Amino acid sequence: MKQQSDDSAQFPQSLLPENIAKLTAYSSAKSEKLTGSTWLNANESPYTREYALTKTEFNRYPDPQPQQVLDAYSAYVGLEPEQVVMTRGADEGIELLVRTFCQPGKDSIALFAPTYGMYKVTADTHNVNINSLSQELLQQANAEAICEQVGDAKLVFVCNPNNPTGAIVPSSKIAQIAEQLSQTAIVVVDEAYIEFCPELSAVSLINDYTNVVVLRTLSKAFALAGLRTGFTLANTALLAPLRKVLAPYPVSTVVADIAAQALSTSNIASMRRQVGILNSLKARLQQWLRESSAVKTVLSGEGNFVTLQLKDKAAIATAYERGVVMRPFVLYGEDNWLRISIGNEQELSEVKAWLDAITQVNK
Ligand SMILES: *Cc1c(COP(=O)(O)O)cnc(C)c1O
Repeated sequence: MKQQSDDSAQFPQSLLPENIAKLTAYSSAKSEKLTGSTWLNANESPYTREYALTKTEFNRYPDPQPQQVLDAYSAYVGLEPEQVVMTRGADEGIELLVRTFCQPGKDSIALFAPTYGMYKVTADTHNVNINSLSQELLQQANAEAICEQVGDAKLVFVCNPNNPTGAIVPSSKIAQIAEQLSQTAIVVVDEAYIEFCPELSAVSLINDYTNVVVLRTLSKAFALAGLRTGFTLANTALLAPLRKVLAPYPVSTVVADIAAQALSTSNIASMRRQVGILNSLKARLQQWLRESSAVKTVLSGEGNFVTLQLKDKAAIATAYERGVVMRPFVLYGEDNWLRISIGNEQELSEVKAWLDAITQVNK
């Protein structure tokens, strides 16, 4: 049959599985074609550095798991290299876990809403059910009550600090949850923002609980969102099936080269200095927000972002007009929430100018 040249011609829709047909494309911070000059919508780092490649030949397939990077990252987190899997971002870690442990059309994951959107996207694309619990339950209830609600979910995603609320669960509570679920579920602690509050990490639980997984990334504090590098940390027995599901060559030679450099002792030290600066800029921003009459609520929490509720969501349009791009959210059924990533001093002064403008109107 001759192919129609009309690009809008439809393929047979019956080919699409139902769970795929009803997906709505994930709108990540970057997929929306926004225009602006101050980018504070994706929790990226404002810091950049130049990397030069040390490898210059690319005719061979890469090392599936580059040893130099595994050695450096395991030393950084205080684990053995065998307890680390390197992935294309923490997002690939989420996907690997769902694909490895959840049977489509049968199993489920649990999450605590509002939280990071990729847990739901990944579950939906793999036809895995979602037991959507609340952050309130996670924060307020004891481990026993939480585990009762988790039901038969196989993976329990605890985003810690939580994106977008900044809320933190103490690792003692994560340990209690892992203990209670030891025979029935895996507790996945997403520590994408843990460098901003390193003392709260649950990594040390990995050696005590066989069902604890920690997800990490170089996209946030390490300022390498463009590199697409993350790590899945767990005991070796739990990682074994993940390794079978992992693509044969997930990490390119170029990425491994840069990741190894990013994890040098001096680069880790400069990451920590940058975190210190970003944390103090954040305190300044929180202060401005609390003083503004245009702001209804400021959530206090960890991470390189601040989430707030505006009195009037029209203020978001005012920000776009000024070229300031932040991330709007619908939270707790209201559409006037905003998450602001902590940028550099110049970028935050743009936020301050916007805040002064909208505060004036609200006087
Ligand atoms: C940004 C983010 C990630 C994604 O990290 P990548 O390594 O860039 O895929 C994972 N989890 C949370 C909570 C995040 O905010």
